[in-house]
Amino acid sequence: MADYNQPLGGNQMPRFGGPSTMMRLPATDTASGYDVCFIGVPLDIGTSHRPGARLGPRQIRAESSLLRPYNMATRAAPFDKLRVADLGDVPINTFNLAASIQIIEEFYTEVIAQNCIPLTLGGDHSIVLPILRALKVRHGPVGLIHIDAHSDTNDTMFGEAVTHGTPFRRAVEEGLLDGSRVAQIGLRGSGYTAEDFDWPRQQGFRVVEAHECWHQSLTPLMTEIRDQLGAGPVYISFDIDGLDPAFAPGTGTPEVGGLTSAQGLEIIRGCQGLDIIGADLVEVSPPYDPSGNTSLLGANLLFEMLCVIPISGK
Ligand code: MN
Ligand code: MN
Repeated sequence: MADYNQPLGGNQMPRFGGPSTMMRLPATDTASGYDVCFIGVPLDIGTSHRPGARLGPRQIRAESSLLRPYNMATRAAPFDKLRVADLGDVPINTFNLAASIQIIEEFYTEVIAQNCIPLTLGGDHSIVLPILRALKVRHGPVGLIHIDAHSDTNDTMFGEAVTHGTPFRRAVEEGLLDGSRVAQIGLRGSGYTAEDFDWPRQQGFRVVEAHECWHQSLTPLMTEIRDQLGAGPVYISFDIDGLDPAFAPGTGTPEVGGLTSAQGLEIIRGCQGLDIIGADLVEVSPPYDPSGNTSLLGANLLFEMLCVIPISGK
């Protein structure tokens, strides 16, 4: 049986040294015996504009070396109750998107079959489709909290059905989502038609555009969303471009007027009490992130996700 791993502390090994795993946790080559595993998916061949998200997992892990194990604001101590490790990266085929989607689905199917909750370091947003496919086998159609500047419900892009701008259209078509239990937060920017955000609403999604979030706490919104999503399984998919490029410039398709870092934290902390069965943080592109702040923010958001994984029954 796996141990209750603790991140390697800064008084045992300088934070700029030691293992380059997520939060300097032990690496594992199997999800067996773990409640939660961090998994990297170094894929950006589904992206439409600036590349670089393939480098996201490595850089998020590097910046995560500053993270300590306790959440001072929420008092969560996830490593005291959950067995957590870093499962490494999915060996995608960077020359073949369709093959990579299949590889990711098979990888996650194995993880989920071992009763392990996946927390994913992306990678572009096309990776959520095979993850949701794998989750459906165990959980059926799931609820979703999707933070993003974009709806990612295009029918096709350049004629292609699987891209980082289409995963939630495919997910609806394939019955992977319970449309009445989906919330999209932070949508904004210029569109192709006035109806771009109407298609998700027609599926029953709650769409919260970024301008509806400006200048206010999102804690009340999250109370409403918890009521909307109720007791069933919920997946969190967090596209870092949901946040404003002032906070998260290192991404492929930035849009101005986005959410703040604090609002991002409020959203994740507001998931406490939901039955979170997996989560991802996608679209960090280190080449556009010279300060490292985007990856640091991504690492922190992943830690916050870990802090809201249900402990009960473990
Ligand atoms: Mn986006
Ligand atoms: Mn996205």
